[in-house]
Amino acid sequence: MTVHPLVRVKTLTKSYGHKVVLKRIDLDVLEGEVVALIGPSGSGKSTLLRCMNRLEGQDSGCVLVAGEPVGYTLRDGELHEVSDKLLSFQRRSIGMVFQGFNLFQHMTVLENIMEGPTLVLKQPRAEVEREARRLLDLVGLRDRADHYPAQLSGGQQQRIAIARALAMKPRVMLFDEPTSALDPELVGDVLEVMRTLAREGMTMIVVTHEIGFAREVCDRVIFMADGEIVEQGPPGEVLLDPKHDRTREFLRRLL
Ligand code: ADP
Ligand code: MG
Repeated sequence: MTVHPLVRVKTLTKSYGHKVVLKRIDLDVLEGEVVALIGPSGSGKSTLLRCMNRLEGQDSGCVLVAGEPVGYTLRDGELHEVSDKLLSFQRRSIGMVFQGFNLFQHMTVLENIMEGPTLVLKQPRAEVEREARRLLDLVGLRDRADHYPAQLSGGQQQRIAIARALAMKPRVMLFDEPTSALDPELVGDVLEVMRTLAREGMTMIVVTHEIGFAREVCDRVIFMADGEIVEQGPPGEVLLDPKHDRTREFLRRLL
């Protein structure tokens, strides 16, 4: 039996000016797989995630989710760029959580979570609200539905941001250093939510410096440097017995 990857990155190349920040990246992620992406600052981790949902356009290569090239459609055997409308439709399959929580400050927690499904997906309000409350439960913030983001801690806001992304029923979730902006005592609750998601079978790509999380929760660790995947494998291998000097050096500095 052939297992098709849910996410496929094919020879993705991206430059800013003369600087090539992603060099022909190839990456397949299976359905239900949880991948940690680690590497020094400036190695291209955020750019890779941003190209995956086309917050950035790439120079060449493509990203497929469930076999469909994001930002493109196949016509007459050739790839054609899709309209913004179709792109926003395709993007629903990719949830993203950033370092800063990016919640709508003038909306309550419940409204934040309901915004996408009602406005973009045009789902019936009652149904959306039921789902939003279920997600609030999942992230452990059921009693905060009517609060505004400013009334919540950073960790709580990040859990709301996760719930908001999940409300669009994505096929894959991308996390870009979701706990880096948090006070240390708030990190655990956010990681716990991500752990729950992983257990429930969500496909996840997580840029993180939380090596404990990578070791315990992730199926695979990818080490990136200078726009390239230097090494990858099970956490036990990459984190505990890295093959490359650069990986070893990076991990030594982190610990
Ligand atoms: P990481 O997330 O691994 O720290 P980034 O993907 O943010 O790395 O950045 C990779 C490289 O691309 C860095 O050299 C960074 O300075 C550069 N870069 C990122 N975004 C931009 C941008 N919008 N314009 C120009 N250069 C950028
Ligand atoms: Mg980054």
